[in-house]
Formats: sequence, C-alpha cells, structure tokens
Amino acid sequence: MHHIVENQRNFFNTNTTKNLQFRLTQLDKLYSVLKNNEQALYDAIYKDFKKSEFDTYTSELALIFHDIKDAKRNIYKWARRKKVRTNLMNFPGKSYIIKEPLGVCLVIGAWNYPYQLSLSPVVAALAAGNTVILKPSELPAHSSKVMATLINKTFDPKILKVVEGGVPETTELLEQDFDKIFFTGSTRVGRIVYEAAAKNLTPVTLELGGKSPAFITKDCNLKITVKRLVWAKFLNAGQTCIAPDYVFVEKAIEQNFMEAIKAEIEKEQFAFENNNYVQIINDKNFERLEKMIVPDKVAYGGSTNAPERYIQPTILHKVTFNDPSMQEEIFGPILPVLSYTTLQEAIERSRQLPKPLSAYIFTGSKKNREEVLQQLSFGGGAVNDAVMHISNPKLPFGGVGHSGIGSYHGKAGFDGFSHKKSILHRATWLELPLKYFPHSASKLKWIKRLMKLQ
Ligand code: NAD
Repeated sequence: MHHIVENQRNFFNTNTTKNLQFRLTQLDKLYSVLKNNEQALYDAIYKDFKKSEFDTYTSELALIFHDIKDAKRNIYKWARRKKVRTNLMNFPGKSYIIKEPLGVCLVIGAWNYPYQLSLSPVVAALAAGNTVILKPSELPAHSSKVMATLINKTFDPKILKVVEGGVPETTELLEQDFDKIFFTGSTRVGRIVYEAAAKNLTPVTLELGGKSPAFITKDCNLKITVKRLVWAKFLNAGQTCIAPDYVFVEKAIEQNFMEAIKAEIEKEQFAFENNNYVQIINDKNFERLEKMIVPDKVAYGGSTNAPERYIQPTILHKVTFNDPSMQEEIFGPILPVLSYTTLQEAIERSRQLPKPLSAYIFTGSKKNREEVLQQLSFGGGAVNDAVMHISNPKLPFGGVGHSGIGSYHGKAGFDGFSHKKSILHRATWLELPLKYFPHSASKLKWIKRLMKLQ
C-alpha cells in the first residue's frame, strides 16, 4: 500500500495533473472503459444481489456518466482562478483564489450502489486534478472485481488504482498518509476513518447514514405521495442511504394512508423476476432485518426467504420509538409507520434521533413545509418527493452531524477535492507608510478611517 501511495505522490509532484487537458483525458478514459464494458458491469452486479440492468443503469451508471459529462463541460469554469475584491488597506493590488488539487486521495466505497458510490467521487477527484486509490466495498464481490479489473488495466496506477479488500486492507490503507479521504458507509466505520485521518490531519468527506423520516400531513396529495414514497423506499429493496426510513403520518389520514400505500405496493409488483427488486446483500443483513419484523405490527408483507435472501416489502403499523425497527437505520425493505396529532410533536420526536442524511415532507401547505425545513437539521431532502434530490447535480449531496461531513456531486465534488489557495497580489508602484514605525496619532486616525471604508 505504501508503495502505491508513494508512486502516486511522486507522480502528483511532477505537476502533470494540474493540466486540465490531462484531466479531461482521464475522464474520457473512464467514460470509455465503463461504456465499452457496460454488459460486464450489469452481469457482475446481478450476480451480487440480482440488481437488474434497468436499475443499474438508472441508479448507478447514468449518474456516473452524467457526472463525467458535467465535469468535462464545467472543468474550465470550476478550475478557473476566481477574482475577488481587494480591500482598501491593500491598495494597489488584486486578490484571487486558486483552486489547487489536494494530492493523493483515498476513496472508500459502500456496497449498496457499488458503482456509483465508488466512481462518482473518483470522477470528482480526477476532475480536480488528484490521483486516486479506490477501495470499493468487498461485499458485492463481483462488482468490486469488475471495477478493479477494468480500471487497473486501463489506468496507470500512478493516477488511479483500485485496491480490493475488506477490513484488513482498508486498515492498512488508512495507515498511509493521504491528502484527502472520501468515505461512504456507516457512522460506526466513519468514526474509525475520521480517527485514522486525524493522525495525519487529513481532510475527510464522510458520507454516512441515519434514520431519514418522511412526514405526511393531511393536506398532501395522497395518491402522488404513496406513489413516490413506495418507489423511493423499495428501490434497491430499501438498501438506499437516503430511503425514507420511517413515516410519520397525521392521524386524520392514517387509515386512508395505510390503505393507499398497501394498494400502491401491490400495484408495483416488486419481485426478482420483474427486475424491480433485489436481494438483501448478505446473510448478516438479512438476519438483522428479519428481527425488525415484529409479527403483530405487520400491516403488509412480512414474508422472508433466507436461501434467496428475500424480504417482502413490509409495512409495520402502530410502531413506537421502542420497537426494534426504530433502534437503528433500517437499510432494507421495511417501513415503520408512526402517527402524530401535531406536526410539531412529530418534529420534536424525530429531533431526538441523530441528525439524518435526509428528510421528506409531503404536504400541500407552506406552513407545514417550513416547519419541517426550518426546525429539523438533516443533510438534504425533498418536498413532495423522496430520494430524487440526489439526481440534481446542482444540489450538494452530504450529511450533517452523525450523517456526515462535507458534500459532493457537480461543483461541490470538485470543490471537495480542491484546496482554495487565497492570493493577495500587490503592486509595487505605491507604498503607504501607515503601518510602519514610527506610529503616530494621525496614522492611527487614518487607519481607523480606512477600516470604516472597507
Ligand atoms: P460500512 O461502514 O460497513 O462499510 C463501508 C466501507 O468501509 C467498506 O468499503 C468496508 O470495506 C469498509 N470498512 C468496514 N469496516 C471497516 C473497518 N473496521 N475499518 C476500516 N474500513 C472498514 O458500510 P456499508 O454497510 O457498506 O454501507 C451501509 C451504510 O452506509 C449505511 O449506514 C448507509 O446509510 C451508509 N451509506 C451512506 C451513503 C451516503 O452517500 N451518505 C451512501 C450509501 C450508504
């Protein structure tokens, strides 16, 4: 590991990656190798957890392709020196900010969207002029392998290298001196990464998880609400970091909501053979999820099949904060429904949990919307929708508090892998004597006047 990092650092120090044309070439290479091997990517992920071509394209590859195109289109704008106003104290002069790449970066991916969560940060890092070591999650073994094979045969390891492995390999990587670590995964491992990064004062982006609530008020458009909610929850069998984790519905529409959501799940016909449903990633997660299905709370679904790692879309009703499903992030196809009398009470209850990665409010009222948006702290979210905010690259994506540090996508990703070097550039044709010895009352008066004018 040490060797790979050192080779990348030596290459970075040649300044080659500072050249924008060089970066564009790397992005083109990445685009081509993924495009030319799309089928291999679909086959690998299907073997891992039966994820279909449709879902893999729409929720993984399309986003990566878009990221590459977006970075290529905007690279000159994002990398440009930015002029800022110079204050009077520094007249005559000019001021500007140089975006410089950080250096050798480590990207650690999660398993649930193995391609997108590994490669979108890589796109941002390369566009910003860094070299990258990517460590995908080891759980989807075929997806990890296909990325390693394709990338390692296409890229010079001094620029981009995939290192496969689990805890021992990641631990060894974390002992190296990086200029940036970008981690996607659980809050628990996020802490381990943060601690390792602190030893070298390495900046981090931590993309973590949490329990993302969906609030539903009686004045919502119920038909659209359940349609969007069901799609967002059961996409990838609920194994989505920004999936609605639990629902808080206003008591006045609780029964209607329960009927509507059950009907919508029926309509969607989630099944492996319909290519719109996936397996639980492994036995450990399957068993963890099964324990959350308390039989007398099941309002819909609840059936499971261990050898197939299948869990039916499941709705739990009349759930309280003491239920197993409310003790941790669910990360599976189980949706607990809680009810409230006043929205304020629901917000206050949710606020007792750590700040989530997302929150959603389905409502027709501005007052309700603003109550949630202004009182609850969360990474990002949507009004009258769920999950889709991730698809707008103009919206920086990331958490707050326990759900993460920093953000990416589009320009936010480029900036996350860049240092803003601030420069004051003075002219030499004038030098005011104010700051120099000997000091005097009149000099101080002038300094105070100038400060007021700033
Ligand atoms: P995880 O934390 O178990 O694993 C993430 C990565 O860390 C993997 O590459 C793994 O190999 C590595 N890792 C695991 N244990 C480690 C250790 N002890 N030391 C060093 N490295 C270690 O997370 P996961 O199960 O892959 O993903 C699920 C979690 O990730 C959920 O909490 C989910 O919300 C979160 N998530 C967040 C986002 C986001 O964008 N914010 C996206 C997807 C998933």
